Amino acid sequence: MNKGITIAIDGFSSTGKSTIAKQLAKHLNYIYVDTGAMYRAVALYAINNNLIQEDLKKELLINDLDKIKLNFVYNDSLGFAEMYLNDINVEKEIRTIEVSKWVSKVAAISEVRKKLVSAQQEMGKNKGIVMDGRDIGTVVFPDAELKLFMTASADKRAKRRYKELIDRGDDVNYEEILENVQERDRIDSTREDSPLVKASDAVEFDNSDMGLKEQFERILSLVNDII
Ligand code: C5P
Repeated sequence: MNKGITIAIDGFSSTGKSTIAKQLAKHLNYIYVDTGAMYRAVALYAINNNLIQEDLKKELLINDLDKIKLNFVYNDSLGFAEMYLNDINVEKEIRTIEVSKWVSKVAAISEVRKKLVSAQQEMGKNKGIVMDGRDIGTVVFPDAELKLFMTASADKRAKRRYKELIDRGDDVNYEEILENVQERDRIDSTREDSPLVKASDAVEFDNSDMGLKEQFERILSLVNDII
């Protein structure tokens, strides 16, 4: 049986990676994995366990890594898998601005990355997967058959994120979101371990002015060329 291919989607924060990844996975009947949710869940663990006071207590978090259990559980009515941290559904909690403020510091810790990358490689070992993140095409699946790198202007990205948070009822302001998006991009692109860079064989999509439908069709035609 044809197991399908591996599709790696990387890019800056709020470039619509997960929207396109979910659509692709649904269309192809592939597994979708949002690796950002995993880093967010570790950041939530740190917040909930007082490992963040003035700053992140890195050593304490590293010591606790064995106590952090991450699972995705498919939700039929939503049509995608939700993130569970130690058997509790944290899908909503991991999307708060508080988690967004700390997640890039958590994700810069090599021990955290090692644990999460090996879980991600395990999830993708049978292919037929769409995975989005920052290091999927460079580190997690360097041999992925299709690699996409998404970009958009910081302003467009912050506006999308702002709308998402306002729509779900969060009390946030636009400036705070713009600052967070830019700060995360800065930390993600300059960290020592697995920085966010475009893989040399990735296809770049600047979707600042591209509609979702056009983007999906262009990406699907790339997929069909490979399959
Ligand atoms: O994709 P999302 O914006 O939810 O990711 C949250 C954060 O998790 C990123 O800003 C980055 O710091 C980290 N991340 C990462 N590597 C991945 C996915 C996410 O470092 N593969």
